Amino acid sequence: MSVGLLFDSTRCVACGACSTACKEQNKLPGPVDPEPTARTWTTVQTLEGQNVRRLCMHCLVPTCVSVCPVGALARTPEGPVVYDGGKCMGCRYCMMACPFGVPKYEWDKPVPVVGKCILCTSRVKEGRPTACAEACPYGATVFGTREQLAKEARKRIQESPSAYRDHIYGLGEAGGTGVLMIAAVPFEKLGLRTDVPKDPPAMRTWQVLANIPDFVAVWGCFLYGVHWITARREEVASGPGAGGHGPEGRSS
Ligand code: SF4
Ligand code: SF4
Ligand code: SF4
Repeated sequence: MSVGLLFDSTRCVACGACSTACKEQNKLPGPVDPEPTARTWTTVQTLEGQNVRRLCMHCLVPTCVSVCPVGALARTPEGPVVYDGGKCMGCRYCMMACPFGVPKYEWDKPVPVVGKCILCTSRVKEGRPTACAEACPYGATVFGTREQLAKEARKRIQESPSAYRDHIYGLGEAGGTGVLMIAAVPFEKLGLRTDVPKDPPAMRTWQVLANIPDFVAVWGCFLYGVHWITARREEVASGPGAGGHGPEGRSS
């Protein structure tokens, strides 16, 4: 049973407690940026008088995971889609493939890594709510299992039908997401994509990649590199007399 967040735009007052709590929890330096960056994993924006959070949607079948050639992104059994900067090779395919434009790069770092919400994985593993949900004083951000959150969203809509659009964003979008949203206005007015396919985009990963310039060439180089390293390791492991081509294989 995977966990996630429910964001209720009608209850959000844009106090920013969620963004600040995220910074503290994840030790992200600097002030909260006006939109998500590698150092600001969530922000609250106001569009046409409506407040909306920006953060990773934690897709059930994440395209970012399926395009990553080195497994730097992964979906945990609990639901959070996490990132391992130690594995990242900086190709940025995740940035190009994400249907919600979420992963951001540390452009100013010599060895940049991607930054995005990781759904407070360590807290979730301990059975605790995310820092942003815990910090929200108005019940606008709620943590729970996806089933609980969908039920809560339906309840709020049914109890105040005039206050909400009759739609739970994320139940079907992109094959389903761990973050669900409800609002008083059409979701495009909140800057959310309403043209994302209902089937999981990850199923069409190679179509996505085919649109990325030079992917085939880069991927080919990467595979060759992996092949070369593997072959070289086997060669070294088989001993100095194994006919290596590098310095270790030379006799003096
Ligand atoms: S919203 Fe984007 S970054 Fe987040 S899990 Fe989905 S594909 Fe990955
Ligand atoms: S779930 Fe955790 S990492 Fe994600 S926005 Fe909330 S506080 Fe930040
Ligand atoms: S803490 Fe709650 S009310 Fe405040 S900005 Fe975040 S979601 Fe909105």
